Amino acid sequence: MTNSMRQSKLFTKTRKEAPTDEVSKNAELLIRGGFIHKEMAGVYSYLPLGLRTLKKIENIIREEMNEIGAEELIMTALQKQEVWEKVGRWDDEVVDIWFKTKLKDDTILGLGFTHDEQLVNLLTEYINSYKDLPLYLYQIQTKFRNELRSKSGIMRGREFLMKDMYSFTKNQEDLDTFYEGVKKAYMKVFTRCGIGHRTYVTFASGGTFSQYSHEFQTISEAGEDTIYVEESKNIALNEEIMTDEVLAELGVEKSDLVAKKSIEVGNIFKQSTKFTDPFNLYYQDENGEKKSIYMGGYGIGVTRLMGTIVEVLSDDKGIIWPESVAPFAVHLLALGADEAVNIEANKVYETLTNNNIEVLFDDREGLSAGEKFADSDLLGIPMRVVVSARSLKENGVEIKKRTEEKGSVVSVDELLKLLVSSS
Ligand code: ATP
Ligand code: MG
Repeated sequence: MTNSMRQSKLFTKTRKEAPTDEVSKNAELLIRGGFIHKEMAGVYSYLPLGLRTLKKIENIIREEMNEIGAEELIMTALQKQEVWEKVGRWDDEVVDIWFKTKLKDDTILGLGFTHDEQLVNLLTEYINSYKDLPLYLYQIQTKFRNELRSKSGIMRGREFLMKDMYSFTKNQEDLDTFYEGVKKAYMKVFTRCGIGHRTYVTFASGGTFSQYSHEFQTISEAGEDTIYVEESKNIALNEEIMTDEVLAELGVEKSDLVAKKSIEVGNIFKQSTKFTDPFNLYYQDENGEKKSIYMGGYGIGVTRLMGTIVEVLSDDKGIIWPESVAPFAVHLLALGADEAVNIEANKVYETLTNNNIEVLFDDREGLSAGEKFADSDLLGIPMRVVVSARSLKENGVEIKKRTEEKGSVVSVDELLKLLVSSS
């Protein structure tokens, strides 16, 4: 039995309008479709439909991180002041997006905006030998950031889901090798999520002891960043590092660069020994000598990625989910009050479901065909399957991909073949 569902049982309803204070396309479409609920600016709940997509995105990320040898854990959102003071990031003057809270005894705690310090501190109890390295750890966890402006829907949350991964290696060389592997794994994630063709590995500032960090920037007018792209060389750089010196080093001419608005869906850094040394996280090598541990940090904004998919893959009617992250594979619509239609639609629902296909079955009564079609376009499920008096007459079902203008009539057997081959 797969996770199919009758739309009559779905507690969320589609809406004609998003909240008037919502200016971003991603949140507008996701709220109207009933994927998310806006609690306040930058703070959103994930409703059953939205959670299904979010979990699929998470799982793609999880598979690709596991594939490169990383292990998953979850750290706490509540964090100790002392841990953050070590490298000087507790101060509100240094980090301006802190949310802080208090215990009953007035001890101040931070709500984690990232986890570098906490993880390094934790590892001091577990790592001390060359045999413990390398170590790659990641989590998919809620972050808190008191962002000044939060007008980009789920792309800039004050509470949001991030995948953060950290690598710990014996030397710079091993860090460099893993870092390059992460670049490839990240591109796989974005390709599997349907936005690979628009996403550039982009040179950016930072990286403590290396000169650059890399951002994964997806071209979109909704982006808050600007990058410069040299298409023929597949080189992109963030405008924040656009200097003559950098251009010379990357071997690109200013005149060959095209400016584009973009969304930062991921960011990777070589932190080297910035965190490990201050926390006394060292290892003993084969000769018993004390050595520094080299660290890397690798983020993906999971909920931002979901918002980016909506920004990039949608039209004036609604969302166009790629199959890989769609909440359901099939949107089955029963049209009209005809009992024969109802019986046939239920049969199709069972057949697809028994074949492990995830179906959302619009079995709601009293809605016009036009209303059901509009809802279907808004929800953006990749394949629409219609059972109506007309399709019955033609001995089949009418199928139409969300990306297609016109549908066609096929038998249920043919539909099954089509769906099984594409999954
Ligand atoms: P930005 O410049 O957009 O504020 P950042 O440099 O602060 O991002 P990191 O600290 O590197 O971001 O976090 C890793 C990833 O988490 C980012 O690449 C982005 O995809 C995501 N992210 C960062 N801030 C937010 C936010 N407020 N809401 C949703 N996702 C975010
Ligand atoms: Mg930020």
